[in-house]
Amino acid sequence: MSTNREFDCIVIGAGVQGSFTAYQLAKKKQKTLLLEQFVLPHTRGSSHGQTRIIRKAYEQDFYVNMMEETYELWAQLEREAGVKLYRQTGLLVMGPEKSHYYAQVKNTLQKNKVPMVTLTPDNFSQHIPHFRLAEGDGAVVEVTAGILYADRALKAVQAEFQKLGGVLRDNEMVTDIKPGPIVTVSTSAGVYRTKRLVITAGPWANRLLAHTGLQLPLEVVKINVCYWKEKVPGSYDVKRRFPCFILTESQESKDHIYGLPSNEYPGLMKVCYHTGSTADPDNRDQQKDRSDIDILQRCINRCLPGLVPEPAVVESCLYTLTPDRHFVLDCHPTYSNIVIGAGFSGHGFKFGPIIGKLLCELSLGEVPSHDLSPFRIRRFQAMTKSAL
Ligand SMILES: Cc1cc2nc3c(=O)[nH]c(=O)nc-3n(C[C@H](O)[C@H](O)[C@H](O)COP(=O)(O)OP(=O)(O)OC[C@H]3O[C@@H](n4cnc5c(N)ncnc54)[C@H](O)[C@@H]3O)c2cc1C
Repeated sequence: MSTNREFDCIVIGAGVQGSFTAYQLAKKKQKTLLLEQFVLPHTRGSSHGQTRIIRKAYEQDFYVNMMEETYELWAQLEREAGVKLYRQTGLLVMGPEKSHYYAQVKNTLQKNKVPMVTLTPDNFSQHIPHFRLAEGDGAVVEVTAGILYADRALKAVQAEFQKLGGVLRDNEMVTDIKPGPIVTVSTSAGVYRTKRLVITAGPWANRLLAHTGLQLPLEVVKINVCYWKEKVPGSYDVKRRFPCFILTESQESKDHIYGLPSNEYPGLMKVCYHTGSTADPDNRDQQKDRSDIDILQRCINRCLPGLVPEPAVVESCLYTLTPDRHFVLDCHPTYSNIVIGAGFSGHGFKFGPIIGKLLCELSLGEVPSHDLSPFRIRRFQAMTKSAL
């Protein structure tokens, strides 16, 4: 395809997943257009903010296997772009010794020989000051886990994509998709034609998929991103090697509570609740539920005595949840030249580079470099026959 309205591939959505997919396609010499509805950078989807946790601490082996390669791909982008995107902090995982999640994560880390240290109630506070471990809770530290600098990563991958000849158009909303051997994509600024389309529209995925006759069982929820002030400045600082943490099945909640050391706002630690209330992505801030903040306050009072139990800063972000919390990485069931990356369920950022590679492979009809069976659309069929 040769005119400036004709492409080998169009990617819709310049969040972390679309940006890495476009970059991988451009690396494979595909003439690629990346379309974004908002002016970049923006804070209205799921990929904004300065930090994310990177970890191998998962219940399932397939995520650990994907992470092996993902760490290498992050390092490769760091080298190409000449920026630091990863900082090792370690990840403290805590939960009732006998709870399914805690036991399974510990077992998966051990089985996959991921470097880790098991802490005991006796030596816990020596290693992790200013944190109270609940009675009956186990604690392990995954040593190579850490922080990704999210905003910086997005900027870096989009710049590398453009250096490879990729075309990035922001402030251009896709308004229609006409499937076919050549897909027609209409936007607020014009009409494009492409051999292959990738939809990575985050919370707006179903809105775009409606043009292709498909709806996935996705729920969009708003997350209150809370920062808490240190009573003694520096107590939980990244420079003092305070780790990221995940606390599961706490006294306050069955859902995870997670935290990252003070970093982006000096003296403020990020501690969040790993779920939220249903929201409309176009009217995110109409969702005003703060029951998660009550849960966090109680947890902070009990476990993190060095923090003021009142959030100093509350920002907003969206998760797009699938029923089983696993991603959607698949070809459209009717149109094989349309590929979908969706439902990253609040844990997709760290996988950005490998997801980009996998969506690129799917789009080019190559054999995917990882087993995609956990991420197929057909797994939803039994649950939501009418939706598909
Ligand atoms: C508070 C919070 C904390 C998180 N913490 C972690 C963590 O510690 N570790 C981790 O691995 N993950 C984490 N995640 C999850 C991770 O950030 C998301 O899984 C990831 O950002 C999803 O990226 P995405 O590209 O699918 O979506 P998005 O970033 O939302 O990108 C989709 C893009 O598509 C664009 N778009 C939509 N419709 C159109 C249209 N019609 N035309 C053009 N463009 C369109 C949108 O504007 C948007 O920019 C967290 C998420 C949140 C919200």
